[in-house]
Amino acid sequence: MATKIYECIQKIGDAIIENKDFLTDLDREIGDADHGVNMARGFTEVLAQLPQDETDLGKVLKKVGMVLLSKVGGASGPLYGTAYMKAAGPVNGKTELTLEDGKEMLEAVIAGIKMRGKAERGEKTMLDALEPALEALTKGLENGDDAQACLNAMCEAAREGVEYTKTIRATKGRASYLGDRSIGHQDPGATSSAITLEAIKEFYVENFK
Ligand code: ADP
Ligand code: MG
Repeated sequence: MATKIYECIQKIGDAIIENKDFLTDLDREIGDADHGVNMARGFTEVLAQLPQDETDLGKVLKKVGMVLLSKVGGASGPLYGTAYMKAAGPVNGKTELTLEDGKEMLEAVIAGIKMRGKAERGEKTMLDALEPALEALTKGLENGDDAQACLNAMCEAAREGVEYTKTIRATKGRASYLGDRSIGHQDPGATSSAITLEAIKEFYVENFK
């Protein structure tokens, strides 16, 4: 897809900002009630600082990562900061994006989050949305499904991953302090990750169908 990357980041930022209270309420249940506030502050700053005319995808994503690292506190700042910096890797110097690039970006994002957070899938974190999403995207690409179908499957897997976080105990991050009492609540970071993927899908649908 020819990429209007600023608009895509704007779409993600708008979705995060719209869900600020929802994400914060989720974090109130099993954390310290700041996830939505943190992420909304970060993306408000991203949208203010990001150059609208930069077309190098890698440069834009690196900038997003740097702003999130500097503006978002808590666990999610360094984790999302790393995620966007790593997403830049496969598209440095590129101005257009393929779905295959998207898959490589998601792989790099997951590897970066794992490296930074030392978590694995099943610990009630953003990885529980992102890893199933990557698997669904990979399967769609292997099947030769069209982009819309691949992105639908990716987002559905992310949503199912978020649902799954309700059934498990947190063993990483602040929610792990609650032990078994974290069961029954959905993970805020997995939720913001699913919201991000959904925004990317919507951006695609609105611009490239
Ligand atoms: P904090 O927990 O420091 O207040 P946030 O509330 O902004 O930070 O973010 C919490 C989210 O961060 C959690 O819901 C979880 O998804 C994610 N998270 C926490 N620790 C880790 C980790 N080690 N690896 C991956 N994700 C993590
Ligand atoms: Mg928190």
